[in-house]
Amino acid sequence: MNKLASYAANPDQTRGRNHPEPPPVARNQFQRDRDRIIHSSAFRRLEYKTQVFVNHEGDLFRTRLTHSLEVAQIGRGIARNLNLHEDLVEAVALAHDLGHTPFGHAGQDALNDCMKNDGGFEHNIQSLRVVDHLEQRYAEFDGLNLSFEVREGILKHCSAKNAKSLGDVGARFLQKQQPSLEAQVTNLADEIAYNNHDVDDGLRSGLITLEQLAEVTIFATHLARVKQKYPALTGRKLVHETIRIMIHSLVMDVCQQSQENIKKAEPTDINDIRALPSLISFSKPMSQQQAELKQFLRKNLYQHYRVNRMSAKAQRIIRELFAVFIQDTGLMPDEFQLRAVKDKPRAVADYIAGMTDRYAIREYRRLFAIEEQPL
Ligand code: MG
Repeated sequence: MNKLASYAANPDQTRGRNHPEPPPVARNQFQRDRDRIIHSSAFRRLEYKTQVFVNHEGDLFRTRLTHSLEVAQIGRGIARNLNLHEDLVEAVALAHDLGHTPFGHAGQDALNDCMKNDGGFEHNIQSLRVVDHLEQRYAEFDGLNLSFEVREGILKHCSAKNAKSLGDVGARFLQKQQPSLEAQVTNLADEIAYNNHDVDDGLRSGLITLEQLAEVTIFATHLARVKQKYPALTGRKLVHETIRIMIHSLVMDVCQQSQENIKKAEPTDINDIRALPSLISFSKPMSQQQAELKQFLRKNLYQHYRVNRMSAKAQRIIRELFAVFIQDTGLMPDEFQLRAVKDKPRAVADYIAGMTDRYAIREYRRLFAIEEQPL
């Protein structure tokens, strides 16, 4: 690892954990957090959770697991360039989507709707809930007992109302402060990862075409560069080469612009970082091009009628599961029945949010199918 910048997060100066523990041996605090995340059951379930395409639609599409690995890879690269703490970026990246429901955003919207009179459902806050409460692995505490810096990175955004109930990690939303630069890096790495892999998966699925993408500035510019260098290139290699250099341009742009922002702001330590406006950013032209690409993906991929059909089905499954468990909590496994005694809607939301795509589909069949099903 490069020399750490004075304003980087430092594992030796962590704000600590909710349950005090002796310092780790032979690894730093953020590495310990990363290791705990990788060993969690919520992390393993990411493999079977939808990013855009439902898991059973094909083996080549991204899942939340491969998405999280790509975010970690891109984020570490940026952190290394900016002399920030790579291990913190990696830990936040691997944990940032742990709270996602099955079926991607369609699932979250449906669950949020079901919970609208009971505090709502937000995947970001749920990720924090997973690492703070829901994981059951350690004798001395519930959750993973992660360090403050990883937890604040996981909580990317939240409403003022929610912030009040979230204690230490909620405080910055009320004080209008920023998280560490490492958390800010992970945020942009997330955006770089999904924009690019959704282009790739969108093309692979046939829902969007190269001809359509040639109308989008950032893709067109990079496609032209590849074609100029390799005029005979076609097919998957053409697509991959274009996406490869597009990711590279985005990463370089973030590094250069952020370096400039940092130079101007002259932070000396992490307290300055928290008080300053966000310093990790794309350049203006690049952020406009990213917005154009996002808009294209929204219109042509995320709202494609075939994606809409899957989303509608997914929302129906979530709604009906929610209704049936609220009606009779005795249909849930013991652990969640126990939680339901304290807070029924939240326990049902926790149970549903923890499901993988295929588990939710099986659960739906087990509860609703008329033909004989194993219970
Ligand atoms: Mg993500």
